[in-house]
Amino acid sequence: MPKIATRISQLTGEGALAVYSRAKELEKVGRSIIHLELGEPDFHPAAPVVDALRAAVANGRDRYVATRGIPPLRGAIADYLRCTRKLDVGAEQVLVAPGCKMALALGMMALIEPGDEVLYPDPGFPIYPSFTRGLGAKAVSYALREENKFQPNLAEIASKISSKTRILIFNSPNNPTGTVFSEHTLEQIAELAKKHDLWVISDEIYARILFSGEYKSIWTLPGMAGRTVIIDGFSKSFAMTGWRLGYAVAQKSVIDALDLLVLNTFTCTAEFTQVAAIEALNDSTRAVPAMVEEYRKRRDVFVGKLNKIPGFRCQSPDGAFYAWVNIEETGKSAEEVQKILLEEVGVAAIAGAAFGAEGKNYVRFSLVSATHLLEEALERIQRATLHWRAAVAR
Ligand code: PLP
Repeated sequence: MPKIATRISQLTGEGALAVYSRAKELEKVGRSIIHLELGEPDFHPAAPVVDALRAAVANGRDRYVATRGIPPLRGAIADYLRCTRKLDVGAEQVLVAPGCKMALALGMMALIEPGDEVLYPDPGFPIYPSFTRGLGAKAVSYALREENKFQPNLAEIASKISSKTRILIFNSPNNPTGTVFSEHTLEQIAELAKKHDLWVISDEIYARILFSGEYKSIWTLPGMAGRTVIIDGFSKSFAMTGWRLGYAVAQKSVIDALDLLVLNTFTCTAEFTQVAAIEALNDSTRAVPAMVEEYRKRRDVFVGKLNKIPGFRCQSPDGAFYAWVNIEETGKSAEEVQKILLEEVGVAAIAGAAFGAEGKNYVRFSLVSATHLLEEALERIQRATLHWRAAVAR
């Protein structure tokens, strides 16, 4: 067989999907599973968004369209970012893509040269180091540690910048820790980026899922608009995962580069989903604040009760919908905890190493099931720990 390109051997998968497959197998043989493994909201898009999609299809909005996205949506995204994040951007600085992940891939393809170094958070979204390596570059991690409330240590980042460093990636609120980078952290990252002439990729996919204060984007800091690429999308904030809708925001020359990549690959994002996305941004039924309020309730219930179970420790996340739980004091590895919870009591969660080496002693629970299911999951976790503590005592 002819050989597959070596770049493919540099890519890795996503741990959540492996746990999900096993959980589905168990369900097929009649086991009850509470799914807290995927980062997929259990909400669906608001009714007017679905109606807008139906109308768009019925009205023949199913053609090839502009490679960088239909102008009304690009304009609506610029307006939305002005209202929700105080970004001073125009439609010409927005490019629509099929998913935030695709916007990320386009941005990375446009900015990374083979041999470059890319700084990324550990723990973090596993695609950052995977795709960096796939592009022939070196992925260099910086740690987000519990003792620092999962904020990065800027001295560590500074010490890892070399003449080859080209990009710093971060994600706030962070998946998996739920940390919102402080304004001070953002200012320090901005100073480093300017000093070393770096691009910053700011993954803002969880920007709306914030439990206090207003979202601050690094874009708005002095001198950062020209070197920041924001990636975001509709999957999390508007519960539209399967619609595959995301976008990149950057200076016009970067958008032109991404546009050429779109033309050379997928041509355009589906027209009818783009039309409906305008309705999602309008949010006429105020679905987004209601959903965020529900996530806040789930966070309070889950984190509050989990912290009472011996061996489990969790800081309350400031954003996103994950609980990042330290399990070191259970005396078991995160992989063992993952296995016991899934196989013995039917709670699907992910061992933290899926998000980087710093995740070794952690398990991520996605708060994407209703509160009564989270309460049931907590009872099951409690039951599993009573078993293993009894076994140790014997
Ligand atoms: N960025 C982060 C940090 C994520 O957690 C995810 C999804 O889990 C994505 C990007 C991808 O989003 P999308 O589904 O829009 O491609």
